[in-house]
Amino acid sequence: MKNIDPNVDYLLTAPTQYISRNNVLDGCGRFILKWGKRVLVSSGARALKAVENKLFAALDEAGIKWEINHFSGECCDENISIVTEKVQKMNFDAIIGVGGGKSLDTAKRAAEICGVPIVCIPTIAATCAAASVLSVIYTQEGVHKKDHYLERNPNLVLVDPQIIANAPVEYLESGILDSISKWYEGNAAFGGIRNPDIFASSAVRLALLLNELMEKHAIDAVQAVKNNQAADSVVIVADLNIYLAAVIQSIGKKTRGAVAHGLHAGLSIIPESHDVLHGFKIGYGIIVQLIMEKTPIEEIKRIVNFFRQLDLEPSFKGLKLPFAPRVIQEVAEKSILSDPMQNMPFKVTAEDVVLAMEKAEAMIEKL
Ligand SMILES: [Zn+2]
Repeated sequence: MKNIDPNVDYLLTAPTQYISRNNVLDGCGRFILKWGKRVLVSSGARALKAVENKLFAALDEAGIKWEINHFSGECCDENISIVTEKVQKMNFDAIIGVGGGKSLDTAKRAAEICGVPIVCIPTIAATCAAASVLSVIYTQEGVHKKDHYLERNPNLVLVDPQIIANAPVEYLESGILDSISKWYEGNAAFGGIRNPDIFASSAVRLALLLNELMEKHAIDAVQAVKNNQAADSVVIVADLNIYLAAVIQSIGKKTRGAVAHGLHAGLSIIPESHDVLHGFKIGYGIIVQLIMEKTPIEEIKRIVNFFRQLDLEPSFKGLKLPFAPRVIQEVAEKSILSDPMQNMPFKVTAEDVVLAMEKAEAMIEKL
């Protein structure tokens, strides 16, 4: 029998439960207990420090047994197997993923393989991974392998805005840039859909709303996080980055990604790019896409200025990547094979990508 494919067989919606408030980990055992009584907590070292006092006290208080899996590296098959084997060998009935995208995506995919619930506790708001229905799988070396859409979104997401505000501001900036790509890419993809259904229409309108709210609150949130303050704008931006971005991605099957995320897959062949946060590369990709779409220069200038306030100079030079013809050609060739690139309303060739990247490199500094 053919496996059920979440991409075609049913609508993916949103996390089952989403709670975002200061000190959410205090007493969170009662929420987690609904999903498991013996849990494997999979977390990187730094993320664990941010949650351990409150989380483990809350688990103990609720009578939940727990063990730690020390995560490091990529969301790759090897790391997914480590978590999967521990869960199966030791009979855990749920997984709690803690940390950023790589740790959470690993935990989510392992939970799917084991058939157990997954609770996500993001310690940064750099992507929508905590609430999303996607695990991005890389090789152990960090080269993009595939986008794996899961059977369902996480069962429970716990977001403490103060934890988000305590993390380095680059993560929030990266998350903002990744979130607004939902609008630029979604809108481009939407243009190529002949008879959009209500889900594609809803996704693109929610993405527009996300973009409007982001332009209003993002700069203030970035300033607040630079002072480790969980201001109202931080709460708004964290929920946009994690919840709304994930919902848009879940329901907008036909509007998921375009040039920016396609180019991101291509950039992963450059080893130096692995040290650049996802959203900054996406922000660069948004500019390349806007050039390809022949967006008026004044509008590009406005967006570049917004990006600069998020500490992104959207060029190879700004990202400190080597802009060599052979590298650009390879990036372009890998990017056009990616799924998001197929969402563009016109056919994109490697030559188109190279030309737009060259144009970006020559133009950005002068804006
Ligand atoms: Zn992304």
